[in-house]
Amino acid sequence: MADEPNRLVILGSGPAGLTAALYSARANLNPLLIEGVQPGGQLTITTEVENYPGFEHGIQGPEMMEVFHRQAARFGTRFVIGEVSEVRLGKRPFELSVEGETITARALIVSTGATAKLLNIESEKRLMGYGVSACATCDGAFFKNKEAIVVGGGDTAMEEATFLTKFCSRVTIVHRRDALRASKIMQERARKNPKIAFVWDSVVEEIFGEPKSGVSGVRLNNLKTGQRSDFKTDAVFMAIGHKPNTDIFRGQLEMDEQGYLIVRPGSTYTNIEGVFAAGDVADHTYRQAVTAAGTGCMAAIDAERWLEAHGE
Ligand code: NAP
Repeated sequence: MADEPNRLVILGSGPAGLTAALYSARANLNPLLIEGVQPGGQLTITTEVENYPGFEHGIQGPEMMEVFHRQAARFGTRFVIGEVSEVRLGKRPFELSVEGETITARALIVSTGATAKLLNIESEKRLMGYGVSACATCDGAFFKNKEAIVVGGGDTAMEEATFLTKFCSRVTIVHRRDALRASKIMQERARKNPKIAFVWDSVVEEIFGEPKSGVSGVRLNNLKTGQRSDFKTDAVFMAIGHKPNTDIFRGQLEMDEQGYLIVRPGSTYTNIEGVFAAGDVADHTYRQAVTAAGTGCMAAIDAERWLEAHGE
């Protein structure tokens, strides 16, 4: 594999990477897709997806990614299961270290996604997709007339809590301090909302429930008083930030202070010619499967035209 450079290598197997693969395979670019640490991406930790157009009756997140995978494979995408540990983008062709092997590429699409930060407690892992979620847009509608808590004190927490009041009877924001990090306007919107309450200085220590029956409550720990209390809720939304998966590109690809890749507006071009970025890795605003797929399509077209223009 080291001798013959691949025309196009795609990093990541979420909606962005698999859509880029589908388009570039149909354009005869013979893409090689490296699946990464979480094959299928963030959708593999959700349950039902109801807002992806085309799936009229909804579909389970993992199943949807299997459909994406099969569709990309149908047109000849080659898949490598593995993780990229290092990239050398100063060289042409580009070099990638994958599980001890070197893979070369004339063009590269980076769609390594972002990872929702989590509390890292056992019950959160066990109930993820069964009442625990990191995306209100994705899962809020499942909690009509139910109670939810949102963990976090930033803009995402305010936005998610406000959004959830469309469905939920009550939303409680649990924040570890007594002051919010969120912008004034977002704070005010949340504070003014009669369905939103706040629990200050507190962290979620444990989530109660079972996958079959869902979440039933949480144990809170007040960090100021040390007092623990049980709190009834049907859902727990984590809104403590996301981390783009860009560590391996540091010092090579331009990124903002949070680590999201910067693309030329209206395109998927990064600061390095021949390297394109698609999906959540370059988007902290929308973060939807459909927007990721859309930019994956853009990246495939950008890469195809770039390869064509450069005779590669
Ligand atoms: P963020 O600003 O980093 O806020 C994360 C929040 O989670 C903080 O309040 C933090 O508490 C809390 N937190 C972090 N780790 C925690 C832990 N282990 N346990 C409990 N709480 C924890 O992240 P974000 O809200 O996702 O926002 C990210 C960026 O996107 C920001 O620049 C934001 O302005 C922007 N954004 C903008 C909009 C908008 O304008 N519409 C919407 C969403 C996001 P502390 O405050 O104590 O650190």
